[in-house]
Amino acid sequence: MDEAAEADPPERPGTDHSAAAERIRRARAEAAALAESLTRQWDGVVDAAALTANDDEHDPEGPTIAWEREQLRAMRERVRRELADLDRADRRLRDGVYWTCEGCQGPIPAERLSARPTARTCIGCA
Ligand SMILES: [Zn+2]
Repeated sequence: MDEAAEADPPERPGTDHSAAAERIRRARAEAAALAESLTRQWDGVVDAAALTANDDEHDPEGPTIAWEREQLRAMRERVRRELADLDRADRRLRDGVYWTCEGCQGPIPAERLSARPTARTCIGCA
């Protein structure tokens, strides 16, 4: 019998620190790759806009480029927020409050954090 192990407080299932850290790290890598791809697309759209800037105003590409830029701008904004949320999740994990709801100080269900590693509240407080 390993008495030291028995003396440890029982861990809630799914509240594995390293598994959570790995999920955050992976989500961060994905978001960073997406941010990079969006930046490249943005540069491409800006280049295309520069090329057509001297065309007359009836250029059929005009509205498309404006629309594309707006889509890219919105997506980049979302990814930036996601990266900030992931940094915050990482800090919460290091501070030992990752599984604690910011609203009611109750536990955040492990399944919720598996599905959404940046969650900071339980479902009731969301
Ligand atoms: Zn709560």
